[in-house]
Amino acid sequence: MSKVKKKVKVIKIDVDKCNGCRACEVICSAFHATPKYSSNNPARSRIRLIREPIKDIYLPVYAGERAGAECMGRDKYVIDGKEYDECSFCRAACNSREIFKEPDSGLPLKCDMCESDPPLSEPMCVQWCLNDALSYEEREEEVEEEEKPGDVEIGLEALAGKYGIQKLMDAVARMSKKE
Ligand code: SF4
Ligand code: SF4
Repeated sequence: MSKVKKKVKVIKIDVDKCNGCRACEVICSAFHATPKYSSNNPARSRIRLIREPIKDIYLPVYAGERAGAECMGRDKYVIDGKEYDECSFCRAACNSREIFKEPDSGLPLKCDMCESDPPLSEPMCVQWCLNDALSYEEREEEVEEEEKPGDVEIGLEALAGKYGIQKLMDAVARMSKKE
């Protein structure tokens, strides 16, 4: 298999610099509104702030892959003497909590690094974080060339985009029972 160059995008989070202003949530939701900037609603943001002022906890977390099922166990972190709630660092949309789900449809949200055409110099949340809690880096890595998706994968991706993964999986499960 041949090697190709891949751009790796990284947002570095310095939790000590975050003051919980939530500007990142506001701009992320506005940038992804349709039409763009027509509304803002932190519940639609792909970055969410875990905020516990009494414990001096301000933790920006980015939405990652959806979890198909709740974890069997939970993690609890204590850092610099601060105890974070279970699941605080988790990036997944999951049945156990409300964050990272589109409020109207319930579909999972995922950070897309503000992919746009023309590309941005930096993701919007990084640009709007005036406390430098978020900083952006890019680097190139050599990776194995991915196999191009076949017709079936392309069709499934389109259906998943239209109806959501869960509905698609339910439909496949019903179809397989009939066979
Ligand atoms: S990088 Fe873009 S999509 Fe991701 S959380 Fe920041 S503003 Fe939202
Ligand atoms: S914009 Fe920066 S300082 Fe404000 S909540 Fe987001 S990460 Fe924290």
